Amino acid sequence: MVRKTKIIATVGPASDSKAGLNDLLATGLDAVRLNMSQRDLVYYADIIQRIREWPSVFETVGPAIMVDLAGPKIRTLNFSSGWDLKTGEVVLLGCEGAVDPTEGIPLTGEFRFQGIKPGASISADDGKILLDVTTTISNVLVEVKVRRGGLLLPRKGVNFINIELDVPTLTAKDAADFEFALDQEVDWVALSFVRRASDFNALQQIMDRKGKTIPVFAKIEKPEALDDLEAIVEQFDGVMVARGDLGVEVPIERLPAIQKQIIRRANMAGKPVIIATQLLATMQDNPYPTRAEVTDVANAVYDGADALLLTGETAVGKFPFETILQMDRIISEVEKDPEIDPRMAVIIPSQTDSDAISHAAGEIANLLNIKVIVTMTHSGATASSVSKYRPHATIYSMTPFLPVARRLKLTWGVRPIVVQPYTTTDEMLAFAEEKLLAMGAIQTGDSFILSAGIPIGKIGSTNMLKIQSVKSVNTL
Ligand code: PGA
Ligand code: MN
Repeated sequence: MVRKTKIIATVGPASDSKAGLNDLLATGLDAVRLNMSQRDLVYYADIIQRIREWPSVFETVGPAIMVDLAGPKIRTLNFSSGWDLKTGEVVLLGCEGAVDPTEGIPLTGEFRFQGIKPGASISADDGKILLDVTTTISNVLVEVKVRRGGLLLPRKGVNFINIELDVPTLTAKDAADFEFALDQEVDWVALSFVRRASDFNALQQIMDRKGKTIPVFAKIEKPEALDDLEAIVEQFDGVMVARGDLGVEVPIERLPAIQKQIIRRANMAGKPVIIATQLLATMQDNPYPTRAEVTDVANAVYDGADALLLTGETAVGKFPFETILQMDRIISEVEKDPEIDPRMAVIIPSQTDSDAISHAAGEIANLLNIKVIVTMTHSGATASSVSKYRPHATIYSMTPFLPVARRLKLTWGVRPIVVQPYTTTDEMLAFAEEKLLAMGAIQTGDSFILSAGIPIGKIGSTNMLKIQSVKSVNTL
């Protein structure tokens, strides 16, 4: 059985050495995430080169690379001693320059306070420290009362709850990092702190200017994004449930329902959805997970996620490779559950040729117990469309284009394969059969299903379905 739910791991000090990166890739993960808030471009260019050069022993298509743009994340300023905050004490908090680090807490980033609603509070260091706004002094300075105290360290993330901020969608750093991603021809980008669908425009302008395109995930980690979810899913190429920041931006007990809602929306649109953060968090320090973590990973699979993203576990944890292998075992076990279908979102096909064919491909495979569906695709659209109906069969997605194949690494159930260019339906069938036999995915006597769009190369034209039985090698 080929694992269908994909694994993404963040690279960092725990996994970026020569041996470390090789071990990371050897786990069979599907994509590597580069978190642009951590290091400089020289570091990431080196990692990208090493991933691209890695001699894949499992298949010809190596892991996808995802560049995660930091976005307008506000942090505490660099101040050596940090701030020791006592519960109940009143302190000043403001933009850089508006408050002295010995008298209050200055923050990084070009932002202004815009509107402060009742119940406005501020969370720092992922909710470890909580502050309630008492007085707005100006649009750069507020007075707060400490609700949950502790030592607040420099460069810790700060989230504003029920406070509107005037911040750019894309900071100057994000724009430079995005250009880097385009130049390096990485496979996916993720944009942090998306608030509305139109946040995509800033990226589109850069892509237009450079004459290059790249698919982008919207990271859902702001409450505003939930109000514009449908349009965001429509506008972006995929979405990520970024539970780290989302878990402080909304009451944490709302996370499970929100996760299910986002997955469902993305599934319906046939776009990939990633679940991120704290999936196996205790494995950062221990070689084994908790029962709750195993169940969380399993439930994300049952919910219908395309991919699960490890963050601290593989970037700074003590057991980065064990964590990936553990995740692989949990996912594989869940995917064997005969009861998995009714729990996953059931998607109703729309009345289009492409949906009708893709839905039917899955139904036929399930009915006839066919283990392989081949999608011949130039854009990846046919593969995504078949994946949407979550068939039992593995979707071998064959394309002449390596970048298309690599993007599909993140799509549920899809195993991308690069084939030589084909121009006729006969060639397509012959290439597919030859590849599948060579890989051992099928044997003489088996059948497979092939779906494609004719004319070949016309994007989004999935309209062909064939049940092909493999008689013997070289006969058609
Ligand atoms: P981050 O995103 O690690 O870039 O903050 C993930 C999250 O917020 O869950
Ligand atoms: Mn985040």
